[in-house]
Amino acid sequence: MNEQVTILELKGVERVYVQGEERLSILSGADFSLHRGEMVALVAPSGAGKSTLLHLAGLLERPDAGDVFVSGRACGKLSDDERTAIRRNDIGFVYQFHHLLPEFTAAENVMMPQLVKGLSRDEAAARAAQLLDYMKIGPRAEHRPAELSGGEQQRVAIARAVANAPLVLLADEPTGNLDPETAGYVFEALEALVRQSGLAALIATHNHALAERMDRRVTLDGGKIVGF
Ligand code: ADP
Repeated sequence: MNEQVTILELKGVERVYVQGEERLSILSGADFSLHRGEMVALVAPSGAGKSTLLHLAGLLERPDAGDVFVSGRACGKLSDDERTAIRRNDIGFVYQFHHLLPEFTAAENVMMPQLVKGLSRDEAAARAAQLLDYMKIGPRAEHRPAELSGGEQQRVAIARAVANAPLVLLADEPTGNLDPETAGYVFEALEALVRQSGLAALIATHNHALAERMDRRVTLDGGKIVGF
């Protein structure tokens, strides 16, 4: 069976930034579909609009026109509370900088979103331990972020992003801050996680070698999202 299930879809998305007299059209009629189990690289020069696209896809911003669908549900007209609930349950984010909470251990950082969602401490701790093992940093679970290497910090950030078993993972240059060898290692862990869980992932990267390892590559061209 090779049925494609669409997890995330952008239809006719427009986004214009207005600054004084200037209108900066970042997306103009952008269409895109992301399927379950798929890893797609978003490769475009700095300033092209990758972060804008990820923010729209992650329901952090609303498009000026068009809509974003998560599991077939149109999100544009939903209330802020409804959008927050979808973001919390269905979408995981990873940024270039880990944004881990410095005063908490790796395990506690991965537990946090689960506790916010209402899981018990025991349930959250068990899942955190499992995810950190999966990311091959189990032995570092009781360390705080400052005691971890850059690659370890990013692996914790990825574990945290998927702690509530989202449908889609959005990553903005997740290995952009790492040396090539560490970037490859972190990417491998991320890839294993996506393959094992059936997540759908859209990953902005400047790293062409990593982009080549994903299922598809898209870029931004004239406000559209196009394969290359
Ligand atoms: P990338 O992630 O590809 O580097 P961004 O999505 O961050 O690109 O930005 C795309 C363009 O939109 C840039 O020229 C940026 O300066 C501009 N931009 C981003 N956010 C805003 C904003 N909130 N207001 C005005 N301009 C913005």
